[in-house]
Amino acid sequence: MHTTNKTPARPWAKTRTLTGARVIAFDIDNTIVDIRSTKRRAYRDAFQKLQRYGLPGDASNLADRMLKNARRRGIDAPDLAKTFLYEELGLRDERLAQEAQRLLERFEPARVELFEGVIETLDQLRNRGYRLYAVTDAPLAATHRRLGSNGLTGRFDGIITREDTPRGKATPAPYRHVLEKANIVPGELLSVGDHPVRDVSHAISLGGQGVLAAYGHRPAHDPSSAPHPPTATIGSLRELLALLPSCSQAQAPRVAFA
Ligand SMILES: [Mg+2]
Repeated sequence: MHTTNKTPARPWAKTRTLTGARVIAFDIDNTIVDIRSTKRRAYRDAFQKLQRYGLPGDASNLADRMLKNARRRGIDAPDLAKTFLYEELGLRDERLAQEAQRLLERFEPARVELFEGVIETLDQLRNRGYRLYAVTDAPLAATHRRLGSNGLTGRFDGIITREDTPRGKATPAPYRHVLEKANIVPGELLSVGDHPVRDVSHAISLGGQGVLAAYGHRPAHDPSSAPHPPTATIGSLRELLALLPSCSQAQAPRVAFA
């Protein structure tokens, strides 16, 4: 397991208690999954295998270059391998490109790195009575590659992916979708993620709460530019446990059994 506790939690984060939430919406990339490390390992191993088919160069170096490329073009772009081989390496080989893309996707599930304490934090929050959702801009297939191999898919009551709303987290729409699916009012929603606007401010703009996962935060995201500041900031996912008391789902819709 890998930890990126680069940014310490604000001192008051541990002493505050956030009340009112019944549903917690988690971002995945850079909040649950250390996506940079995950992708880099998958790229490196895919390139290592491709060397048998004549791919030149050092696999680790290629993985670093590919990661930079992926961050520009979109981490789950379906033609990532082809673009990299054609444009960056000058290797115009359709079969090699197809094999590279296949290997990248095949290797990813076994190389997923979760941030420290993810499983136990989710389980404890569930034991405290919260319902848990995953809300991501990644497509459904990529989401299953990240979550399925860790048993995480079954730990969420619902998963909202890129296909569920027209523009994803460019607008608050995914969080409205959570409100509808979970049948809750905005004040019962708490969102957790590394992006100050997409994961935090959007949820607050609807009337919910937003917690900034500062450990996954990239410098390109300036929290001060978000319309709404975070309700709280955490330096590791575990710190949520100090912020969130037990919660009652008494008002949640119940399934009636005859
Ligand atoms: Mg994220």
